[in-house]
Amino acid sequence: MIIVARKGITAEQLDYIRERVEALGLRTHVSIGENRTIIGCIGDESRLGGVPMLSIPGVDSVHPVMRPYKLAARDFAADRTTRVPVGDRTFGGEACLVAAGPCSVENEGMMAVTGRSVAGFGAALLRGGAFKPRTSPYSFDGLKEKGLEILARVREETGLPVVTEVLDPRDAELIAGYADMLQIGTRNMQNFSLLREVGQLQRPVLLKRGMSATLKDLLLAAEYVMSRGNMQVVLCERGIRTFGGEMRNTFDLAAIPWLKQETHLPVIADPSHAGGRRDLVAPLSFAAVAAGADGLIVEVHPDPETAMSDGDQSLTLDGFGGLMRDLKVFAEAAGRTL
Ligand code: PEP
Ligand code: MN
Repeated sequence: MIIVARKGITAEQLDYIRERVEALGLRTHVSIGENRTIIGCIGDESRLGGVPMLSIPGVDSVHPVMRPYKLAARDFAADRTTRVPVGDRTFGGEACLVAAGPCSVENEGMMAVTGRSVAGFGAALLRGGAFKPRTSPYSFDGLKEKGLEILARVREETGLPVVTEVLDPRDAELIAGYADMLQIGTRNMQNFSLLREVGQLQRPVLLKRGMSATLKDLLLAAEYVMSRGNMQVVLCERGIRTFGGEMRNTFDLAAIPWLKQETHLPVIADPSHAGGRRDLVAPLSFAAVAAGADGLIVEVHPDPETAMSDGDQSLTLDGFGGLMRDLKVFAEAAGRTL
């Protein structure tokens, strides 16, 4: 960490700052310039995390030099993307994996039809929420365990591993008993007790970016899971809240290459929640894969008009077939298979 001193700092104030830092086991190096004095702190800067530096007289600003996340940082792993196996598929390998399915598990029939269809079009995983976070407490919030049972039966039939959302730490173990991958949604990205809980389960985690979270916040959320021993984390850019109401969210395309440089974890994109409209799903998918995404998660419904959630952004079954066909060329251009 580098501490920049205020103009006119006194020798006593400078000594005091050095004492505070050195008391925590770090060394200091003072460099007195013409305009400014700078105190370099050498050693484990995380020890300074709890010190309210800006409250110490003479301190003007502080600048961390280390990243606050360690396990999620690119340096932690060899110079490649970490492989995260889910069932018999693997995120972070040569193949770009597409998870597809409805927003909510509504009944067995629609799940079976969707599962068979998306499997036929080359989806790698089946998605579907059994526990749904809804903005209104009066909206349909999922079939719960019955939905999990349906997902497990459709997995049996189609061979597709299942990804489904966990909202509450109290349900995590139950859901892990059925699902191949646990999704943490945008509203829960900083639910720290939930992150700790899934960190203790040996199930891969799909961690979606909080709608108001920075990318550093996202990596620190991943660090919560990883620091509990679960290194199997896949990150997902799903759009953030900005101004303008035309789209449901603003798809942060640059987040994909930025994350790919900053972390060794696989990164996927959710074009359905990003755009919030069926006709935007294909172009956003193409852009994400061209930008280096390791996969996509896409909402698909056999009859979007009757969907119990997110019908307007759900592709039809044929629409999904068209997406997979057209996506191939973008995947190949990015050096991936689909
Ligand atoms: C979902 O995948 O249906 C969902 C609720 O996603 P998000 O958390 O990104 O809104
Ligand atoms: Mn949804």
